[in-house]
Amino acid sequence: MNDLQTLLAFIQTQAPAGGIGNDGTLNYRDLDAYFNDKLTNGSNDPDDVRAMRDRALTACGLAGANSVANSNLPQPGNEKRRAASATILAMSIIRDTNTTALTSHYNRLINMSLTPILSELKALLTAGDIVKSTKHSHLELKNFTSAGKQKTNFTHEAEYAYERAQGLLMSARQQFVLPTSAMSGLLAQAFTAFFGNPAAVVDTTTLPFLAGAAKPTWNPANQTKRAVVRKVLQKVCDAYISQDVRMYFGGRSIDTGTNAYVSGDTKPAKVHLGGTFFGKAKTGLNTKAGIVVHEFTHTFARTDDHAYGPTQCKALAVGTAAEQLKALTNADNYQYFVEAAFG
Ligand SMILES: [Zn+2]
Repeated sequence: MNDLQTLLAFIQTQAPAGGIGNDGTLNYRDLDAYFNDKLTNGSNDPDDVRAMRDRALTACGLAGANSVANSNLPQPGNEKRRAASATILAMSIIRDTNTTALTSHYNRLINMSLTPILSELKALLTAGDIVKSTKHSHLELKNFTSAGKQKTNFTHEAEYAYERAQGLLMSARQQFVLPTSAMSGLLAQAFTAFFGNPAAVVDTTTLPFLAGAAKPTWNPANQTKRAVVRKVLQKVCDAYISQDVRMYFGGRSIDTGTNAYVSGDTKPAKVHLGGTFFGKAKTGLNTKAGIVVHEFTHTFARTDDHAYGPTQCKALAVGTAAEQLKALTNADNYQYFVEAAFG
């Protein structure tokens, strides 16, 4: 067996009985199957997934996945090296950790005794890196360990964004979704800026939402813009408050240039936070909480990304008929509306 096969066989023998991760459907015990699941998932680049495996081998100074050489890891005296390498492999495949961090973890592990190395491997295999937030019962945090020295800071930032997004959505419900009287002041201004005339009527069957079960529908089809925005925000608000949310510290694929993206089904609702997310403001437009609202309008109401940024979003709101329909289904328009009216 080569080094990779040796490590996978070792992981099989070490993994805890049952071995079902907190994700329910993910069987972390069989890391090879989990790896192949990632490899065949259409939303992943297969080369990225293979690199995820191969950089673990590199960090441990082992031969590549396609090597035909027999591994010397099973030999007596190599117990710690085997356990540490297996842990690094699991860490890379489960957490998508970068090479620098893998190397540093390898150097840490190899200086520990065997028992705690094996405990770390088991923890990775059973739960990945998911922890419940100590502040919010509906919030889980995943992969923040891979943020290294920034772990504590980023965890606080994520928790704060979750909490503030909830505040924005609760205000939207109290001040916009529930009231029936005419809008005034800042609320009216924000609505007009990002959606246009609230009394204008649109045919909701022509609204360019993304496909999916969460896409809102109206009966009758003709509705005012205000009714459209109200229903979208109501759906987002209801779901956000009642469902578990899992925030990921993004993973290598979104380390630079991306604020956030959402993935998978909605239980829990998952949002991946990228490198640029943590540099965003706390108040005003383009906030961390606003980004969370943006992402969950995708998940819970199937909004699209037709345009980005306040200038383009405002232009959509007063543009052609088709552009106005885009404004009503554009995630950034909802983010800016909520931030401007309730921030
Ligand atoms: Zn988006």
